[in-house]
Amino acid sequence: MSTNNKELLEKMYAYLRRHNPEVCRHWFDEILVAGVEGGLLRLVVNEPVRLKYLQRTCVASFTEAAQAASGRLMTVRFVASEVEKVDTSVRLVRQSGGSSENNFTETPMLLDEQMLLCPDYCFDAFVVGPGNRLAHAASLAVASKLGRAYNPFFIHGAVGLGKTHLLQAICQTTLRNQPATRILYISCNTFMDAFHECVKAGRMGDFRLRFRNVDLLVIDDIHFLSKREQTQEEFFHTFNMLHQSGRQIVLSSDAAPSEIPALEERLISRFNSGLVARIDRPCYETRVAILKSKAKLHDLQLLDDVAAYVAARIDSNIRELEGALTKIRGFALALGRSIDLDLAKEALGVNVLIVGSKNNQPSMQTILDSVSLYYDVKMTDLLGKRRHKSIVLPRQICMWLARRHTRYSLEEIGGYIGGRDHTTVLHAVRTVTARSNMDDGLRSDVERLEEGLRLVSPSPTTSAH
Ligand code: ADP
Ligand code: MG
Repeated sequence: MSTNNKELLEKMYAYLRRHNPEVCRHWFDEILVAGVEGGLLRLVVNEPVRLKYLQRTCVASFTEAAQAASGRLMTVRFVASEVEKVDTSVRLVRQSGGSSENNFTETPMLLDEQMLLCPDYCFDAFVVGPGNRLAHAASLAVASKLGRAYNPFFIHGAVGLGKTHLLQAICQTTLRNQPATRILYISCNTFMDAFHECVKAGRMGDFRLRFRNVDLLVIDDIHFLSKREQTQEEFFHTFNMLHQSGRQIVLSSDAAPSEIPALEERLISRFNSGLVARIDRPCYETRVAILKSKAKLHDLQLLDDVAAYVAARIDSNIRELEGALTKIRGFALALGRSIDLDLAKEALGVNVLIVGSKNNQPSMQTILDSVSLYYDVKMTDLLGKRRHKSIVLPRQICMWLARRHTRYSLEEIGGYIGGRDHTTVLHAVRTVTARSNMDDGLRSDVERLEEGLRLVSPSPTTSAH
């Protein structure tokens, strides 16, 4: 890589650290520049999971950084190797969710839309403690002996304790060690959606082909099968077919099999027939270690007393622990200070769950704070003009929450949230209502946010609009 290119990359990372710190990872220094041609900056990423992740989620932020760093109009493209052919038809601004430009020819698995693995969720980055030791050991065993260690393998535990992390670590390890394995990693909701679509379209053959032709089937949050009788029936057959032919099944859930409401007895007994591992809340020492590992991942200096302070204050789940770290980093950036104990205290002192207002309605700032923390989106982005998918939905949720839990008018809400007009707010309210009726994941997200706001103001104003 030439000095010029190295300089360009360094400038880009400096820009990202400043404007988009949440996307930064310590392994970015392994990315190389393949070349800059005709406004196209090609970056080489050798590791397939990282490559796909960057292609799907980071094109826009890297493009922004490249333009800022070079002062030129250019598009970033992530490629698997230097010799990859330049596609001259490439559009100048590529949407991050865009086309399949990977070239994993050696991995003929079901790399469909659902299979987006997060490079952060690997075994190396998983901190082991008393609460997750069994689940971790069993996950390692499953990944190294597919179908032969524990089948099915069922992980359960409360939200934010690392179930998805372990599921993805199993997939990533398998992908690395046995690239030819046909893996299907999917959320239970997507499984149900696919099922209903195929039933409606009379294409059950396709559905079965897709789900039964795999070596490793990983379904996250299987508790959503609760009460879905028809889908349970189909899943039962999928399960049996895979299990009988020795294919590995890995499931996660927020409750033990027998505690999932309205789940068929025969499924409970299938789930219990392998290994069921529970994850418990992390102890103090584990929380400290996790904070340090997350800080390292994001290339962040975290002093011991800061880690100790945060770990002592937040003992619920790890997602909240990460949220606290994000908040501290945001504070440091906004105030141009380094991260020390005083700063951490200030940052967490403004606890969104404590700051309330007199008249039993959360303030707009509280709503924005909660959403910003929950979705890991910057306040400036919530209030700003960017229309990236990852920001638009959280922004709409702010408007929806404000509409439901405050007495502000559509105009006032719009004015507060980046000077938008009332039709934008109305549209947001309708969109979130409609989507949360269809999407269990979104519904549980907004319910959790509302729960947080309820702690602020015990009897929220759910005015009838
Ligand atoms: P769940 O699926 O159980 O709700 P996740 O797997 O999404 O939880 O974990 C929430 C966050 O906590 C993720 O960012 C994950 O990386 C992190 N996390 C959970 N457990 C650990 C652990 N033992 N070590 C490091 N990070 C963890
Ligand atoms: Mg999960």
